Amino acid sequence: MNLLRKKEEKELSKIKELFLEKKYFFLSTHLYPDGDALGSLVGLAIALRNQGKVVKMGLGEREPLPPHYLFLPYLDEIVYPDGHWFKEEVFVALDCASMARLGGWVEKAKKAKWLVNIDHHQTNERFGSLNLIEVKSSSTSELVFIILKELGFELNKEAALAFYVGILTDTGRFQYANTSAKTFEIARELIGFGLDTFQIFQNVYENYSFNCLKLLGLILKRARKEGELIHSYLTQRDLAKFNVGLSETENYIDFLRLNRDSKLAILFKELPDGNWKVSLRGKKGVYSHLIASRFGGGGHPGAAGFTTSLPRRKVLNLIKGDLI
Ligand code: AMP
Ligand code: MN
Ligand code: MN
Repeated sequence: MNLLRKKEEKELSKIKELFLEKKYFFLSTHLYPDGDALGSLVGLAIALRNQGKVVKMGLGEREPLPPHYLFLPYLDEIVYPDGHWFKEEVFVALDCASMARLGGWVEKAKKAKWLVNIDHHQTNERFGSLNLIEVKSSSTSELVFIILKELGFELNKEAALAFYVGILTDTGRFQYANTSAKTFEIARELIGFGLDTFQIFQNVYENYSFNCLKLLGLILKRARKEGELIHSYLTQRDLAKFNVGLSETENYIDFLRLNRDSKLAILFKELPDGNWKVSLRGKKGVYSHLIASRFGGGGHPGAAGFTTSLPRRKVLNLIKGDLI
């Protein structure tokens, strides 16, 4: 595969062997799943099942899923760590920069006979027994699609929908720097399964409740600019007041990054335990994954995140020190 670095080719052939030979699979992805997390999870599950495999999908925390992804198929089958215990041979972690991102499945992942780590984050900690990390891939969905294609596994419309959503969202609708000609070629192939791209766009991007819009207004009103940094925040109280779930606010950060003369956008979201879930978006030479790594998180140069118990002002001061 010309998309992959040499180093990964050996790992890839072993992963392919597992996908061909093994029967029982457990797939999981990161906490607070985004479109790529859910897309690669569901898409791979469908493709493996079409090969006669027995596949379970799990998420590490029983949090509501973003409503704008609920049109994806089979999400109601997702299991959680407080539920059943399975004994699959192969555990596949998708779109997870670190083991901790699996949340409640970490222990199961550690005990698995095979732990396959398929991801595209620069900060990936290579925690698997097999690791396929391709930072040039726009998304984990794109990467999984390529593996399945090389294996000759048949896709169907549902799997194509899942992978398309993963690619669409991780590339910011085919606009971010991770979008390549290859990404468009794959999207073309996926659309060929009969996808209604306009409907998908509406489901994902024009799916705000009125309260969500009003809360977004508050975030923008609160935004502050300090040099080339733009930042805002949202608290549990705000969420309760507007009756909006945390998972519905996934795309708010995209509105902060619209500012033409900011190099870094930061959105702080308060978690139920009082910690901050911090989203970073970097541009013009600001590598947000390096900043996130300092706080124990990770991601990509353009988009990264971390969770912290530090006060907001303290985080901002530390980051401002980095920027100057
Ligand atoms: P978000 O701000 O949650 O949309 O995340 C932006 C990017 O950073 C995504 O690629 C995430 O997978 C990654 N990311 C977010 N939080 C973390 C974390 N705590 N550890 C590692 N990667 C993260
Ligand atoms: Mn993701
Ligand atoms: Mn991704």
